[in-house]
Amino acid sequence: MRTWIALAVGVVTAVTLTACGSKAGTLQGSTAALGAADTKSIEYSGTGKWFQFGQAPNPTLPWPAFDVSAFTASINYDTPAARMQMTRKQVVEPGRVRPAPVDQKVDQYVSGTAAWNMAAAPAGAPAAQAQPAAVEERTMEIWSTPQGFLKAAAANNATSQATGTGSEVTFTAGKNKYVGTINGQNQVEKVQTWINNPVLGDTLVETTFSDYRDFNGVQFPAHIARQQGGYPVLDLTVSSVTRNGAVDLAVPEQARNATVPPVTVTSDKLADGVYYLRGGTHHSLAIDQTDHIVIVEGPLDEARSTAVIAKAKELIPNKPIKYLINTHAHFDHSGGLRTYVDEGATIVTHEMNKAYYEKAWSAPHSLNPDRLEQSKKTAMFETFTDKHVVTDGRRAIEIYPIQGSGHNDAFVMVYLPRERVLAEADAFTPAAADAPPPAMPNPFSVNLYDNIQRLKLDVRQIAALHGPRITTMADLRTAIGQRTNTTN
Ligand SMILES: [Zn+2]
Repeated sequence: MRTWIALAVGVVTAVTLTACGSKAGTLQGSTAALGAADTKSIEYSGTGKWFQFGQAPNPTLPWPAFDVSAFTASINYDTPAARMQMTRKQVVEPGRVRPAPVDQKVDQYVSGTAAWNMAAAPAGAPAAQAQPAAVEERTMEIWSTPQGFLKAAAANNATSQATGTGSEVTFTAGKNKYVGTINGQNQVEKVQTWINNPVLGDTLVETTFSDYRDFNGVQFPAHIARQQGGYPVLDLTVSSVTRNGAVDLAVPEQARNATVPPVTVTSDKLADGVYYLRGGTHHSLAIDQTDHIVIVEGPLDEARSTAVIAKAKELIPNKPIKYLINTHAHFDHSGGLRTYVDEGATIVTHEMNKAYYEKAWSAPHSLNPDRLEQSKKTAMFETFTDKHVVTDGRRAIEIYPIQGSGHNDAFVMVYLPRERVLAEADAFTPAAADAPPPAMPNPFSVNLYDNIQRLKLDVRQIAALHGPRITTMADLRTAIGQRTNTTN
């Protein structure tokens, strides 16, 4: 008799809790429903799509898509640490010509204040490469999981506010603010946070979780979608989840105490008053005009721009930087532009990029305030859709749209007709001098070659804005597997 009563009470209690839970989702309710307090680690796997942030084919299009055939995130919430493994392959958009997609394998880690990738070494086992600049974003991904968000909320004095059938939960971890939405079923439905980007400033990263299921005793979403900077960066269908398995991610020697390496700028004189500024992954040109300096390309971020500007002023003293010529809007080629705006330079770019930059640069840059965030100067632009010339009356600097490139629709190269120097980014990146030519010519390089021929440019030197060396048309011809041409 007693047993029967106890069972009946148990059933009633369970029903009441469910009814209550569907009325108002709370931080406490969700923490219990998702087992967050007891979750020390989680590993989830799936397939879907990944999108390359900052690399839109033009500023009106979303980030380009990759098919993800395998994805596994392994997270230790206590450390905190995470490993993300992914196999992805670019989706070539209809009507766009790209290099033939190949499987890319990604194996990236964060643990505390260290981040690193494991990458295939030319010979032997994969080697660790420190990625100290990736710590912020990878840590954000840990707290942008349902259980991770709830654990971080508990650890960071979150505040909670009822909203309809659920709650909005807010906290700050490190310098990043997090806002989560808990629905009437006590599921974490959405996590928003903001991270710095040199172009966009404080960039909203919004992760949504839907289709919650019971995966071996843990409630977890079967669908995870993330947007960053207004467009999708991840769309994952989750197929398996393991809770509290061992996730031990020892920090390798190479990543321990690694810091972002100092920015260096080297200079090579290509012609009188024309300097090739390298020393990192992305290069620039400094051109000495009668009463001013012209810089070609402001890549990466303010640290790079600051160093390039210092080198340009050392080589070309007592002249202001009047123009910054930008090859395209991919973030690795435009992240340093804001520094030049603050410097007083006019940004010379394809017309298609202007509205995008104006909007991006007017957004708050409070997470990593740069010079322009403080001065609030208005950007000056000089734009074009066809051939454009910047001149001091003596030296012409010609800018040509690279027509028909699959890389970007607002993509230009810079040509100095007197010096016969061509500067271009991403269309042709020379390999090391002793490297064998690629098995398959890169269609972006073939297209560059065709543009040079169409425009009858008499190129003597190519100053590629990536790559290890100054090259010539002969190098470009070799790279595209050609094309013995007698005219050039
Ligand atoms: Zn690019």
